[in-house]
This record gives sequence, C-alpha cells and structure tokens, in this order.
Amino acid sequence: MSDLLVDLSARPWFRQAVKQLGLPLPTPQALRRPKGPRVDRPLEGRVVVAAGAPGGQLTDVLARTLAEAGATPHVVGEALAAPWTAAAEAWSRPVTLHAPDAAPDADLTAHGLVFDATGLRDPAGLRALYDLFHPWLPALGRCGRIIVIGRPAGEADTPAAAAAMAALEGFVRSLAKEIGRKGATAHVVSVGAGAEPRLPALLRFLLSDRAAFLSGQPWRLSATVDAPATTGWTQPLAGQTVLLTGAARGIGAATAELLAAEGAHVICLDRPGDEGPLGAVARAIGGTVLAVDITADDAPEAIVAHLNAHHGGRLDAVIHNAGITRDKTLARMSEAQWDQAVAVNLGAVVDIDAALLAGPLAEGGRIVCLSSVAGIAGNVGQTNYAASKAGLVGYVAALAKAAAERNIAVNAVAPGFIETRLTAAIPAVTREVGRRLSALGQGGLPRDVGELITYLATPHSTGLTGQVIRACGGMFIGA
Ligand code: NAD
Repeated sequence: MSDLLVDLSARPWFRQAVKQLGLPLPTPQALRRPKGPRVDRPLEGRVVVAAGAPGGQLTDVLARTLAEAGATPHVVGEALAAPWTAAAEAWSRPVTLHAPDAAPDADLTAHGLVFDATGLRDPAGLRALYDLFHPWLPALGRCGRIIVIGRPAGEADTPAAAAAMAALEGFVRSLAKEIGRKGATAHVVSVGAGAEPRLPALLRFLLSDRAAFLSGQPWRLSATVDAPATTGWTQPLAGQTVLLTGAARGIGAATAELLAAEGAHVICLDRPGDEGPLGAVARAIGGTVLAVDITADDAPEAIVAHLNAHHGGRLDAVIHNAGITRDKTLARMSEAQWDQAVAVNLGAVVDIDAALLAGPLAEGGRIVCLSSVAGIAGNVGQTNYAASKAGLVGYVAALAKAAAERNIAVNAVAPGFIETRLTAAIPAVTREVGRRLSALGQGGLPRDVGELITYLATPHSTGLTGQVIRACGGMFIGA
C-alpha cells in the first residue's frame, strides 16, 4: 500500500511548500532499501565517521570491519590514527583524520557515525558523546546511521562504569527520535566478553540499507552460542533449509523471497485452502509447499514427516511467522476469539518447536518468532493477541537458555506498523496516526521485517540469542 505523504515528500516543491506555509504536515523521508542479495562490500564508497572515548577496546575490530566492507573512513582523534591507518591500508581505503575540536567541512556528508564507547568509566565520560555528536550530527546524510558500541552494564567492574554503559541506551533511543525525520536511524550495540568476533557481521547489517526500518534498538551480543565455521559475506544461507510459516502473503511472502535470495531452500507453510497463493510464492523462489494448519493436533508430526521425506530429516532454521488477530475488547470477546489467537500465535509455536528440537533442528540452528509491538505496549481490543505476542517474549528468553547447549539461537522480531492487509483494514484516520507514530514518520514494508528475520536466520547473527528486536521505525509506544 503506498503512503501519499512519503511519495509527496520526495518532491522538493512539496517539502518547500510545507516549510514556507508552516503547514502542520510531516514530510517523512523515503527510505533507501537494498537492491538484490548481500554483497561483499555493502558500504562501498560511503563515508563512515569513527570516533571513540579514551580507552576504547574495539578500535581494531571496527577499523577492519569498516575497511573490509568498503567504507571510506573518516576518523576523529589523533589517538585512533595508527590502527585505522593500518586497517585501511590493508584494504586499500584512504583514511581522513579530523582533529577532535574541528567542525567537519560543510560539504562532507557522512553515511554513518560510529562511536566506540567501551572505554567509558563514569558519568563524566559521557561528555564524549556530546563532544562527537553535537558538531557531527549536521554532517549525517539522509538515511544515515548512528551506532554506539558499549559493553553490557552487568559486566562492568564498578557501579560508575555500569551507569555510563546503561546511559548509552537512553542516549541512543532519544537520538533515534531526533534524526528520524531524515530517514536516519540509531542503535546501541553492547558487546559481551568474548563476543567481539560477532561484531563485524552485526555492524555490516546495521550500517547497510537492509536495516532501513530498524531504529532505537539495543543489540546485545554475547558468546552464549558458538559461532559456526566461517560463513562468507554473500549467500550465507546456501545449502540450508528454512521452514517459514504463514508464507502465503504479507511479511511471510516477502521473507520467503529474501531467504531464497541468500541461498536458502524455503519450505513455505500455510493453511490448507491457501495453496493458490502459497504455491505462487514457493514457485517463484524454487521452494517447497507444505499446506498444514499449525494448530492441528498432528501439525508437528506432519512437519517432521515432511522433513524426513524431502529434506533428509534436517532443518537449519524455523521462522514462526503465521499469526492472526481476533480483535474485540475483552468484555465482548468470544471464547473462540481468545482460543484461536492464543493457539495460532503462541501454542502452535511451542508445540512445533518441541518436535523440531527433538530431532530435525540441526546443531547451530536458528529459531525466529514473530512477536509484536502490541505485545510489548498493549493495545485496546487486543488482550488475546497481546497476551500471545508477549508470551513469545518470555518464551524466546527461556528457550534460548535451554537451546544454547546445542548452539541453537532463539530470537523474536516485534514489528510495529507494517503496510500489510492487516493494517490496510484499519480505519483511515487511525491508520494515518499509526503510520506517523514512529521516529521515521511512516509505516514499514513487509520486506523491512523480512530483512531482520533473514539476518536472524543466517549464521551472521550468532551473537544474538534470547532477544526481542523491534522492526518499528523507532515507534513512540512500547519500551
Ligand atoms: P498476514 O495475515 O498477511 O499473513 C499471516 C499468514 O499466516 C497468512 O498467510 C495466514 O494464512 C497464515 N496463518 C494464519 N493462521 C494459520 C494457521 N493456523 N496455520 C498456518 N498458517 C496460518 O499477516 P502479516 O501482517 O504478514 O503478519 C505476519 C506476522 O507478523 C504475524 O505473526 C503478525 O502477528 C506479525 N505482526 C504483523 C504486524 C503488521 O503490521 N502487519 C505487526 C506486528 C506483528
């Protein structure tokens, strides 16, 4: 579904008229989205400005990651010159150094501002955030990225250091709201002890156009799940089998395409009776059709039997995307409406995972569940839906612990307002308000959620487990 304000805002005359006439209209920036599958150098030719608080521990990994991804590094601060120059030379990237107290050239446009905050020891040190971002924010281009990297507050050796690390989250969530009107986004990544080798893949993803609709998110990297043997930057799902429920339309159909583009064989599952659209999705990507009602008593057995018959009894990832709403205020809700929402959105997920974990899901596999911002924030008329989606939050946290011994990662994605038939059915005025409630001032597209799901389904996401990541454009509601 097209968004008229985003389309109009792409025209300079419209933006100018809104400004000159002082019209109370938002002018959301059209987001830059990727074309085609993953490439070796996703940041080719893009300026990324890097800086760090004194004592930063991740300069080397940052320098290597950005240079290898093709970025053109600009570095603020003499202390960082040596490691950056070494990495940049290894990848033939020219480095530009900037004095910390000099304002950037007016004609310099940065795609990314990356700050290594791992050296922060106390609240006074937080001033380094102001010192970098205050002068450099105007240089951040449209659809740019801000990444602040810290350590988990829980791993800090003093309360003062923990305070500084925890502060990063509030800083980034607020900054995300301030820069959203440019289509720009901000994230905080906390790197747990031993998780440093997992940072490059996450940085590549967040700095790329694949993360267009993600903003204001904390990403907690840990070494809980063992990293698989090296996976290349391209075709990370080559040779892998992924089961995707609810694949016939909406977010599922968009995700099927993205998974297949990264090399996966996708088993496209949806309800019997939906074989028409399901078959079309599967045919377009060379996938397999599996028509099963996930709430049927024998659904787990049917899925395992299909895997045994057609895929050697092995599965690399499962994406629990099938979901329904049965909206009514609780006083008016029927038993059936309650039961259906909880059974599809939560009960079936638990039952299917039990069967997959008992055999087919391979060591190093991934489980991705579709939660919702409504499960985090609550919503009128959605007690059943929000209960089921909040249930998934607790479920992934618990299952992640249990599955870690087999190096299986378990995460949830919580979409905000996404342009699908679900949201197209909302009355026009409410729909318009819902769209504008995010920092980016617009709804996301199914493929935006699909990009996050695909990232979590690849071995590149190994450092993330037990987490709920929102695909909401920095929505104003919820945590
Ligand atoms: P959709 O209605 O377009 O697609 C959902 C698919 O699930 C459908 O193809 C449907 O047939 C399938 N399905 C439903 N019940 C099933 C069952 N019993 N067995 C097998 N398949 C079944 O929905 P969507 O908007 O693409 O949402 C996908 C997921 O994202 C859902 O879990 C939804 O709750 C979640 N989500 C969506 C939004 C949004 O804005 N669209 C926001 C938050 C969360």
